[in-house]
Amino acid sequence: MANAKPKLLFKNKDVSTVNSSDGTSRSLEKAGRPNRQKEKVNGLKDRAQDLRKSFIDSLEEDIRDFLINEAELHTYDDLTKVNPVTPSTVLKCLQARYSAKVFYTHAGCTLVALNPFQPIPDLYSLDVMREYHSAPQPQEFKPHIFIVAEEAYRNVQGQVEPMNQSLVYSGESGAGKTWTSRCLMKYYATVAASSQKCQDTVEKIERRVLGSNPIMEAFGNACTLRNSNSSRFGKYIQLQLNGSQLLVGASVQTFLLEKTRVAFQAPNERNFHIFYQMMKGATGKQRLEWMLPLDQDFAWLPHAEKTLEEDCLQETVEAMINLGIDESKRTQIFRILAGLLQLGNVDFRPALEEAQTCDLDEHSKGFLQKTADLLQVPLDELQSCLTVRTLRAGKQNVLKLCSQSECSVRRDCLAKVIYAQLFDWLVTFINNSMCADRSMWCNFIGLLDVYGFECFLLNNLEQLCINYANEKLQQHFVAHYLKAQQEEYVTEGLQWSFIRYQDNQGCLDLIEGSPSSIFSLLNEECRLNRASDAKQFCVRLQKELSHNASISWDKFSKQPHFTVAHYADKVSYQIEGMMEKNKDPVPPELISLLQNSQDSLLHSLFADGDHESEGLRGHSKVVTVISKFRNSLESLMKILHSTTPHYTRCIKPNPDCRPLTFKREEVITQLEACGIVETINISAAGFPIRIPYGNFLQRYGLITNTRLTVQMNQSNSPEMSNQAVLGSAVEDVLNVVLKRRASNSTLSPDDNNNMVH
Ligand code: ADP
Ligand code: MG
Repeated sequence: MANAKPKLLFKNKDVSTVNSSDGTSRSLEKAGRPNRQKEKVNGLKDRAQDLRKSFIDSLEEDIRDFLINEAELHTYDDLTKVNPVTPSTVLKCLQARYSAKVFYTHAGCTLVALNPFQPIPDLYSLDVMREYHSAPQPQEFKPHIFIVAEEAYRNVQGQVEPMNQSLVYSGESGAGKTWTSRCLMKYYATVAASSQKCQDTVEKIERRVLGSNPIMEAFGNACTLRNSNSSRFGKYIQLQLNGSQLLVGASVQTFLLEKTRVAFQAPNERNFHIFYQMMKGATGKQRLEWMLPLDQDFAWLPHAEKTLEEDCLQETVEAMINLGIDESKRTQIFRILAGLLQLGNVDFRPALEEAQTCDLDEHSKGFLQKTADLLQVPLDELQSCLTVRTLRAGKQNVLKLCSQSECSVRRDCLAKVIYAQLFDWLVTFINNSMCADRSMWCNFIGLLDVYGFECFLLNNLEQLCINYANEKLQQHFVAHYLKAQQEEYVTEGLQWSFIRYQDNQGCLDLIEGSPSSIFSLLNEECRLNRASDAKQFCVRLQKELSHNASISWDKFSKQPHFTVAHYADKVSYQIEGMMEKNKDPVPPELISLLQNSQDSLLHSLFADGDHESEGLRGHSKVVTVISKFRNSLESLMKILHSTTPHYTRCIKPNPDCRPLTFKREEVITQLEACGIVETINISAAGFPIRIPYGNFLQRYGLITNTRLTVQMNQSNSPEMSNQAVLGSAVEDVLNVVLKRRASNSTLSPDDNNNMVH
């Protein structure tokens, strides 16, 4: 959410929209266009910054009177206790806590996690884990991600029926989602460790589960402008627990790896960590094997800011060994990766004569030779695949020479398709290695770590998919917490005045609805198999979708684009290139080249015919990027809906990832984007504790008289669903509890309704 602004600013000049439609500062720099535009952009940014500051200042004045004791603000463990709940009071409270080095705060049904951007000693130690785990009431401890972890762990074997759990963390890039995911995996690997109990069968399961992290991060994370260890894929990991609540296995599902990064890195960004790890950590022997001399520069390995992750080759290799990736497979993997680096240094020159293929200088010829050696494919075949296209004309094949730019596209495509297949192979391997037999586990706890909402200066299909995923998650959150809770109060007949919240259904209809939506129109365009024209497509969008309030167009923009009002911010997407990205064509020649590789791993990645190339699938049956992404997201949402979710909102306190630095305007933007104030309001006004009658009686029955026990026995239903019979008993219990509460009780039901909320 790099450029998200407070909502107030939308009424003024929205910088992100202006920037996006004008082009980008990044692309302007690259193309060497005049600085005037840049100045204009910077000027607007400054203005927006000023507006944001004055917005916060004015809010602050409003609240000054309300806050009773500022010195105590940092002691508010739950934001529902802040009075009144406004963006500004919430912000103030979080800031006070951050200054006091308290990083977790409850926000009713969710947890807010502020990123300290520096290791905090003992915050996540084994002792702390054990403390939270063994506490009878962990929620009475200081707010911590371990409270959420423990709650899910205890819920998973619910007293009425076991229920799978999902822990979902959201937040912008660098907010701390992946860190949280790692913490939680360590927590469960510790408190649910099964190793000591069953040495033989699952001896290494914790190590394997934890070991999947360094591998996936090495291959799927990269240094970006916003996070030096940014995950470039989404992941949902299910920790499988047996009947005794012990960890016996895990499985992982990944989403939308940003494979373009292999062949293209934005200015000041980097390729995936694994390439740097190889460059830095290779032994002399490996260097020879991988043809990576120390002084060699690679076009696809820009020297942006160094990261800690590049020193981790040994850790990655050890994790591979733990997962059972043997030496010969590891050799193959690294050789293929080295081949991709060589491929990136191959540059094409225009053909010398019209009837010739594009030319290569001596350097490029050398790199192409090394690529062919490392990928174990014939050099001449590799060269012709990159420079000549085979077209179908009736029943005959016609050869067409590729232009210089077409050759580069094919080169990049080759790298992307290999990397993506290799990544998928690794994920499958990891799953085979960690996943327990279905008969061995009963329930799971799922951890969802997907990329946060993105708004760059230039946005395309990748951002549309990512932001769509975030819309889906937001909808899940809204439906689960805000809508369902309030509806339940109404059906239970409780007195309740409805709290308004932002429903994003309209935006989702725009993106994925039927009969007409951005996705359906994009897919249709791809299936028509005609040269796509961005301007025409833009006109079509206007014609078909302008009735939806979530879409708009900037009249002054010269680029074909559309702007979507997401729940978090407005984002302008450029249409140029979107259709091609959605088709994601892979020339069939490249696939057959790889199918004939002498490298058994590379060969196997493409051998099964599953991989759909442009030629194999035929245009009428194009499986677009959108369709694939949507399907995998649908299946994720189905799983999420079948579990009990626990939401954590990760907040990035400053954009520069500086330790212990709290920028109020950054934080308030994020708080607004995730609707935290509405959440707190509903939680504060609502009933924080909800226990089914049966459980309530089981738990608190003892404190009432024997009449209750008799009544329980009379109700023959094992679930104790006979509310009529139990109603009066509960009331009795409740009265007792309320009386006890007055002296010193832990349960705090809000009123004397006979529902146990
Ligand atoms: P995201 O996955 O949301 O993009 P990360 O989890 O990668 O963000 O966090 C970015 C960086 O912030 C991490 O590499 C780490 O340095 C730091 N960080 C995040 N959470 C914490 C934490 N709880 N304690 C200390 N540092 C943290
Ligand atoms: Mg991440």
